[in-house]
Amino acid sequence: MKSINQIDFSEKKAFVRVDFNVPFDDAGRISDNSRIVAALPTIKYIMSRGGSCILASHLGRPKGKTKDLSLSKLIPEIEKLLSTKVLFSDDCIGEKTESQCSDLKQGEVILLENLRFYEEETNADESFAKKLSNLAEIYVNDAYGTTHREHASTATMAKFFDIKSPGILLENEIRSLKKLMDNPTGPVTAIIGGAKVSSKISVIANMLDVVDNLIIGGGMAYTFIKNNGGAIGDSIFEKDKLNDCSKIMSLAEQKNVNVFLPEDVVASNEFSNEGLKKAINIYNIPKGWQGLDIGPLTISKFEKIVTESKTILWNGPMGVFEMPAFEQGTLAIAKSVAKATSSGAFSLIGGGDSVAAIKKFNLQDEVSFISTGGGAMLESLEGKILPGIKALK
Ligand code: AMP
Repeated sequence: MKSINQIDFSEKKAFVRVDFNVPFDDAGRISDNSRIVAALPTIKYIMSRGGSCILASHLGRPKGKTKDLSLSKLIPEIEKLLSTKVLFSDDCIGEKTESQCSDLKQGEVILLENLRFYEEETNADESFAKKLSNLAEIYVNDAYGTTHREHASTATMAKFFDIKSPGILLENEIRSLKKLMDNPTGPVTAIIGGAKVSSKISVIANMLDVVDNLIIGGGMAYTFIKNNGGAIGDSIFEKDKLNDCSKIMSLAEQKNVNVFLPEDVVASNEFSNEGLKKAINIYNIPKGWQGLDIGPLTISKFEKIVTESKTILWNGPMGVFEMPAFEQGTLAIAKSVAKATSSGAFSLIGGGDSVAAIKKFNLQDEVSFISTGGGAMLESLEGKILPGIKALK
């Protein structure tokens, strides 16, 4: 795979697939611009090398052309962040778009209209992909969050280019995953949490080939505890996944992976921040009570393992961290990951609500890498080859 710095962009037009699928508040303002910010290094790099950028993205899941999902709404924000004028094309293919793109001068930037206004985008339609490819001489994909989708702009169109590469953001994502998956420095620890075993089972199974320690927390832990014969009260669990928990435990034993489950929990008599709270053994949760965070004994045990690790993957919170009453476990893990990182560990956070958690605790600058791809990150961790990355090879 070519790196972006091996490409001569001078006087060339680059089609840059970005992920500008940003959220909006009720007043229609962008409520989080991180996805735009994340693509700036690539755009600025291409401009500084004398190229011009044709930016293309999807926004939401439109059914046909809907005005409220027009990417034109993003122009003022992109212009502010780039400190330059950004042109707009009110389509992403067609004669007018072609002529606007062909008139593009060195250092200029144009944003195309929402790719998903055409269903050909998600259908990975070849002739639509060909039309997109006709707009530029170089293809750059910087949209990690969509690389697990085989869509026209994320995968199909790449084959029409001789010169193609990941953007700076995507390259960093690929590099970070490699650091975790290929010969990581040990001890390697995966902290897997979140609501359900079902959404993470393939990740856990695949990570057993990579890690020394597997920490399981959050809602998914209760299915493991139930499977071990524990009384989990009203805590969430997945009946049809009990068997998978047994399989994971025996696979971990075969592969010499230490599995750490919570010993105690902070339980409540209701799923709310205001309910009664008590720390109890995870194997003895009374009826009417549910575990909503890991308990103090578990916190100290997990903290020790994390701070002694040299490579860390964290995916999924340890409890219902959105409620202050049950954020302590997730906060302690976030702090331990930050502490390990400051002592030289490599830490990768992604693929679930742990990213939201680390941001809530304002520790995002104290870890090595925060992935921008939810689903894409999970599929990478499951060991899948992502179509958007394969297409660049
Ligand atoms: P995920 O997207 O799979 O990482 O799951 C994240 C969600 O799991 C968060 O919204 C948490 O509130 C939720 N969660 C974590 N621990 C528990 C628990 N013990 N009971 C219920 N939900 C939980």
